[in-house]
This record gives sequence, structure tokens and C-alpha cells, in this order.
Amino acid sequence: MTSRRVSRLLVALLTAGTMFGATVASPSAASADARIAATVCYDTSQAGSFAGIANQAATIWNNATVNLTLSNCGSNLRIYQITGGGSYAVRTSLGNGRVYIDTQQAAQYSPLRIMTHEIGHILGLPDNYNGNCALLMSGGSAGTSCTNPYPSTAEANRVSNLFAGTRASADTGSQVFRDSWPVFSVAPVG
Ligand SMILES: [Zn+2]
Repeated sequence: MTSRRVSRLLVALLTAGTMFGATVASPSAASADARIAATVCYDTSQAGSFAGIANQAATIWNNATVNLTLSNCGSNLRIYQITGGGSYAVRTSLGNGRVYIDTQQAAQYSPLRIMTHEIGHILGLPDNYNGNCALLMSGGSAGTSCTNPYPSTAEANRVSNLFAGTRASADTGSQVFRDSWPVFSVAPVG
């Protein structure tokens, strides 16, 4: 009857209204140009005896993250072997920069932990000197006995998220990270 037709119409209108009200403006698709290249090419031609360790560190990061592949294919990231002065990282932009591994520190600390830590800076992570060996970015604050070369889940997820973003939103800018590995003149107790 009439009332039935009206209620049907009402339902149709309400449905249409709900659908219309629920319509979300389609998010502006990030342009391909603005997206960060998912591959970070590193170069070990000047890494000396640490070249193999760089490859191991790349595998660790690749296994721990998504949106990112480290590959020995070029010069986004150059890895250097140095003697003295301390290991450090120079990040020019997210996924780009240089890592310096000090042979003297690598004789005290795990070379693989140093390598994955310094690469972590290139991948956007800051230092976190809380002494927790479960964290990669605690660096030397966890002591020379800490040989853990793996990022925590939170650290790995942060890198994945940075590389899932756009250059503008994720780029952490140019920065130098030094003194992550304090010198122990005497072996620390415990
Ligand atoms: Zn550091």
C-alpha cells in the first residue's frame, strides 16, 4: 500500500544517505616519485675485512623488515674500514650515507653488532643508550659482552614503517652518529 511504498522509499533514501554519508574522499595516492626506493644498494669495496660482515648485517635487516631490501649493488650506502677514531655513521638522507667500522672497536665489541647498529642509523634509527642488549640501538651501552646483532621487533618495525612512507614524511635528514661504542680501557666486570 501507500504507507508500505513510503517506507520502502524511506529505507531507500536512508540507505542512499548512509552510503553517501559514509563515502570517504579517496586518499590522494602517493605519487611513485615521492615513494622511497625499497632497495638500498650498499658498497663494500672499501669495507676491507668487514665486507662479509656487511653482507651478514644486510641479511639480518632484510629478514627483520618489510618494504626494504639491502643489496650489494651500488652506493646508497658506502661501508668503510677504518682504524681508530671510533665507528660511526653519516646519514645524508633516509637510506643513504656512509658507515665507518673501526677495527680497534671491532676487536672489543661484536663486529656484526656494530655493523647492524651503524646501518640502523642509515635506516632511520636514533641511538638509545639504555644498556639493554635486546636493543640493537643501545650500542656499546650494553657492554662488550653483548653480541646481539638483531634489531628488536620495535626497532625493525620502525624501519619498515619509515620505508613505507614517502620521502617527505619519512626522511629524517642529514645526521652524524658518533660515540655509540665507548672505549673500555679495562674489561667491564660482569
Ligand atoms: Zn649509534
